[in-house]
Amino acid sequence: MAFEYRKGALCAEQVPLEEIARRFGTPCYVYSRAAIERHYGEFALALAGRSALVAYSVKANSNLAVLALLAKLGAGFDIVSGGELARVLAAGGEPRKILFSGVGKTEDEIAYALESGILCLNLESEGELQRVAQVAGRCGKRAPIAFRINPDVDAKTHPYISTGLKQSKFGVPHADAERIYREASRLPQVEVVGIGCHIGSLMTGAGPFIDATARILALTTRLERAGIGLAHIDLGGGFGIRYRDEAPAPIGEFVDGALGVLAGRKEKLIVDPGRSIVGSAGALITRVEYVKPGEAKSFLVVDAAMNDLLRPALYGAWHEVLPVLEEDEAAATGVYDIVGPVCESADFLAKDRALAARPGDLLAVMSAGAYAMAMSSNYNSRPRAAEVMVDGEQAHLVRRRERVAELYAGESVPAW
Ligand SMILES: *Cc1c(COP(=O)(O)O)cnc(C)c1O
Repeated sequence: MAFEYRKGALCAEQVPLEEIARRFGTPCYVYSRAAIERHYGEFALALAGRSALVAYSVKANSNLAVLALLAKLGAGFDIVSGGELARVLAAGGEPRKILFSGVGKTEDEIAYALESGILCLNLESEGELQRVAQVAGRCGKRAPIAFRINPDVDAKTHPYISTGLKQSKFGVPHADAERIYREASRLPQVEVVGIGCHIGSLMTGAGPFIDATARILALTTRLERAGIGLAHIDLGGGFGIRYRDEAPAPIGEFVDGALGVLAGRKEKLIVDPGRSIVGSAGALITRVEYVKPGEAKSFLVVDAAMNDLLRPALYGAWHEVLPVLEEDEAAATGVYDIVGPVCESADFLAKDRALAARPGDLLAVMSAGAYAMAMSSNYNSRPRAAEVMVDGEQAHLVRRRERVAELYAGESVPAW
């Protein structure tokens, strides 16, 4: 376990969170190196012996230390912006292991990707194909491309799928795929290298993932017959983790299912997990500022807010909240909404939690490694939290707390 109580103190690996709060202040994100390595290792093990690439989805958590750690383990990277490309390169990621996804790539981003020599641009429309061909022509490069296919996996049987349906903005419709591939194969400025899909996040069962694999394989064999051979098949990410009481299938079950469908195929298999690598490897430490009793509700007002962790406000997401020091038996327990200082009613981290907390106590918001710091903002002119990576008995500051003056450093007042 990345986080567990030792002698009453919640620890990240060997380091008590209380010590981290004392050294680096709160709010503070803490990540476990061992947990990230373990989660990456599950994919690597399941894919061992096959031509494969685990391309970590950078948008889940783009801290340079996280990226550098994964690069060292041999990971590739799935990016969605020029900014993420710059981060991956700064962290030592290999360009030949980078895939560029997303529906809105600009000309500058495409040129940057081509100049950097990335593995593949994952295209999502014919407009994008035309643009990539143009930019490649201008740069004197041949653009390696794949299309993200929207497999339209039946939502009725698999209701939790959110990005693989016809009404989604993502991907090229399954029915148009063959025509678009033929069109691409005639363009000299692009080289068709792969095919991809990503059917949604937080999958718990492997069924839809395996269905999507079968649909992508069927398309791949049709393209092959049409003379369009592919080097890789990218099945996306979206593997669930446990936030509350979900019981996601183990990674091996997803991967083995896909490998079964792809048995005998020579294409490189790519997966791009984000949440399942970093989600449960992180926690957010926050301090209770006030206990505010009320008639209808009582509140713990803490020093972290929706600008630090948006998921509860944005999705109604549930995160476990644990006391950093185990409560003594005598302490009075109340039921609280845990809220931040931001001026929005949506500013909550958790609702209706039984805790024995006093002002000054520390709480840990769990499973906060993915889509947490990465979605943070400066709303209410709040500097972003510090980030710490724990490695055994060591705690490394991997992003210092933002300074208030940095918030307005880029602003200026006109000489009216
Ligand atoms: C967001 C995204 C992922 C990662 O999703 P997780 O749920 O974090 O695993 C993978 N592939 C693509 C194309 C994505 O957009």
